Amino acid sequence: MPRLLNDRLYVPPELIAKAAEVAFGDMAFYFRPNHLARLAKMLNAPDIGGNDSFVIENLLTNAVISAKEQLPHCQDTGTAIVYAWKDEGVYTGADDRDALEKGAEAAYKNKLLRFSQFIPASFFNEFNSGNNLPAQIHIEAAANDNAKPSYRFLFAAKGGGSTNKTTYIASTPALLGEAPFRAFLEERIRGLGTAGCPPYQLAIVAGGASPEQNLELLKLATTEILDEVPYFDPSNPNQNSHALFRDRYWEDQIKEIGRNTGLGAQFGGTNFILDVRVLRLGRHAATFPVSIGVSCIAHRNMLAVIDSEGLSIEQLVNTPETYLKECGVNLQSTAVTRKASAQKHISLEKPMREVCSELSALKTGDMVLLSGKLIVARDLAHLRWHELISQRKDLPEYVKKHPVYYAGPAGTPPGKVIGSLGPTTAQRMDPYAEELLSRGYSLISLAKGNRTKLCLDACKKHGGFFLGTVGGAAALLSTYVTSNELMDYPEFGMEAVRLITVKDFPAFIVIDDKGNDLYK
Ligand code: SF4
Repeated sequence: MPRLLNDRLYVPPELIAKAAEVAFGDMAFYFRPNHLARLAKMLNAPDIGGNDSFVIENLLTNAVISAKEQLPHCQDTGTAIVYAWKDEGVYTGADDRDALEKGAEAAYKNKLLRFSQFIPASFFNEFNSGNNLPAQIHIEAAANDNAKPSYRFLFAAKGGGSTNKTTYIASTPALLGEAPFRAFLEERIRGLGTAGCPPYQLAIVAGGASPEQNLELLKLATTEILDEVPYFDPSNPNQNSHALFRDRYWEDQIKEIGRNTGLGAQFGGTNFILDVRVLRLGRHAATFPVSIGVSCIAHRNMLAVIDSEGLSIEQLVNTPETYLKECGVNLQSTAVTRKASAQKHISLEKPMREVCSELSALKTGDMVLLSGKLIVARDLAHLRWHELISQRKDLPEYVKKHPVYYAGPAGTPPGKVIGSLGPTTAQRMDPYAEELLSRGYSLISLAKGNRTKLCLDACKKHGGFFLGTVGGAAALLSTYVTSNELMDYPEFGMEAVRLITVKDFPAFIVIDDKGNDLYK
């Protein structure tokens, strides 16, 4: 327990570690109530269209499965990030960063979360750290704002797909106008694509004394911790003196821009954006910096406070089914089941060319249910295959025989076939598309997000397909896996090559063999 000594609060480092362990453990399995409520509202909207209802129901069903605390809601359980504000009256007599890292490590190890951090052994050689460390930790000194000193924490676990969507643009004052700013936003928001697993919690920060200040506010805005920043009030002349404000007009405009992208929750529709924060602050005369960032559907943020009363930590929803029922969502009579039963079943037990010709009869945006064997492989395996091809060697037969699912699972909980197994961002494999497909390898790939022309051209030229499945629904997707065998490269950890069998695994045709792309 913390204790007050001469008006100073002693916080034992074990309590700091405990806060981190509870937060990183809970965030992997549970969601904030407002996050689930926003998704429920989207699903209940009478005008929900495209493939949105299927995706959002999958995401809510996923939340119900992950709340059993075995399968994390996303396989990428993120980089551990901590922001802390330490009042001057607080002392620990220890290295607080060390305590926070110990707590994070305990959560990732004890809850079988995925270790995603790589350490450079030399400039080009890396190894997995084996405990998901290092964490990113910021501790700021704060004045006691009342007589009661406290230590306040924001914990966030950020996945690689959503991190990659962060953009900082050192723009110029030429953007200061309704028309240029709107055109800029339309291009940038559409350019976010779907690889960061929408519906997005989007944040935009305009202005800032430096790129670092701008980007820190962006990160904090995506966690909702800056929601209390006052809105700009055009009728209040004193507003001009405000150092920082939110802008309701642009938040509304951006929601509309998101609807009009047509990208929808992931496979076409209108529900691209879950919520928006737009912040504006001062700038240097020579620049008008704008940053854009998202928090993905695995919206993992938690607050905690340690004061003389002990540790208080934000409560997430651990019975989402009850909560969703109150929001008017009944997952028992799911549209997922109804829609899934009406879809085309594709057996992957047939020769690859036969499977391709069945897919060729369908169109982009169509959903299929896959049954049979898939190879699970991602970045490191593709790099290894590329090296083998460069040495004029053949790849293992399985790369020709089975579709390749770009994914890397979380740890397998006792009694399960595999851990959470959602798709990773497909675009990273695009540089290998031509060399693989031209040799008859990987004719069908499966993952998430949009792909570049490299993949589109290779599919058209060599009769290939790219299928997308729901990003951020990893707990649910792992329930379609009936067998799991390690094939190659165990030293790659979560990136090892696996052969899995799936039953009725849902996927959408994103790119076909005729040069069509759902996202174009
Ligand atoms: S939901 Fe998508 S973007 Fe977010 S952590 Fe998971 S895989 Fe990455």
